[in-house]
Amino acid sequence: KAKEHGRARYEIFATSMYTHALDRLKVENELRRAIERQELVVYYQPIVALTSGALQGFEALVRWQHPIRGLLSPSEFIPIAEETGLITGIDRWVLLQACQQLKRWQQQFSSLPPLVMSVNLSARQFSQPSLIEQIDQILQITSVRGNSLKIEVTETAIIKKPELAKIALQQLRDRQICVCLDDFGTGYSSLSYLHQFPVDTLKIDRSFISSMDRESGNYEIVRAIINLGLNLAIDVIAEGIETPSQKLLLTELGCQSGQGYLFSRPMEPTVAANLIAHQQYWVA
Ligand code: C2E
Ligand code: MG
Ligand code: MG
Ligand code: MG
Repeated sequence: KAKEHGRARYEIFATSMYTHALDRLKVENELRRAIERQELVVYYQPIVALTSGALQGFEALVRWQHPIRGLLSPSEFIPIAEETGLITGIDRWVLLQACQQLKRWQQQFSSLPPLVMSVNLSARQFSQPSLIEQIDQILQITSVRGNSLKIEVTETAIIKKPELAKIALQQLRDRQICVCLDDFGTGYSSLSYLHQFPVDTLKIDRSFISSMDRESGNYEIVRAIINLGLNLAIDVIAEGIETPSQKLLLTELGCQSGQGYLFSRPMEPTVAANLIAHQQYWVA
């Protein structure tokens, strides 16, 4: 009886493993073709100066317009892309799209203060020796200036290969490209590494922001990160601001910039262009 039971469980397990592996293989193959078929799209989420409410720039966030499954969020394909190495091609493509888009907006809205475009790079892409050549090439093709571009990497990307990271960070700095440590506070490196690596911005992870108005522990973490930034002269962005009370607390603590559904969700380029055109300010 117990044996039967065991076998039944084994079969269920085996079946789900099989489906899973098959799914992944399918996704991998589809993803390989997604770029050629132009199924990937880039959405843009505003980054806002918290005190003035002015638009500072956007973060480019990739989506997959899947022919059958609809619009897929990065969590549904980025992990597979990272495991298979497809991520490097995706990251490069997103960087090119985002720079082309930024250039169009800068030309279209030339009288407005210049916008900054933030682009995510995976750890794998960040430690590619050819990274800087790729970036140089894209800046050249699009005539985007280095100081309008911000690269977002996680602490993990830096800590994994610290020597390579140091070189990459210096090369970016030479070109006046800003570097933002994304999801800050969730990795292991945080404090001891900060002064060794030249970064311009810390982006406080959404997990701390989302409960900072309810949980004193997270409030204190947010406060500590903002003070750290102020003391080291590093800008701080809060990610995932959803409520006016979170925004108020962050402003009181001296956080310069924010991003979140309170201001806007990531949106299609045409919608983002409207927002730039109307010189949207977020006051409240
Ligand atoms: P991330 O870089 O930390 O991006 C911020 C994520 O938080 C985005 O999710 C954004 O839509 C979401 N978000 C922003 N404000 C709010 C809010 O107020 N509430 C909530 N619930 N969410 C908010 P998204 O677009 O699904 O992207 C998820 C992650 O996928 C990104 O996290 C980034 O790690 C990765 N990713 C996205 N695009 C790329 C890319 O082009 N290359 C690489 N390597 N990774 C990317
Ligand atoms: Mg990011
Ligand atoms: Mg983040
Ligand atoms: Mg995040």
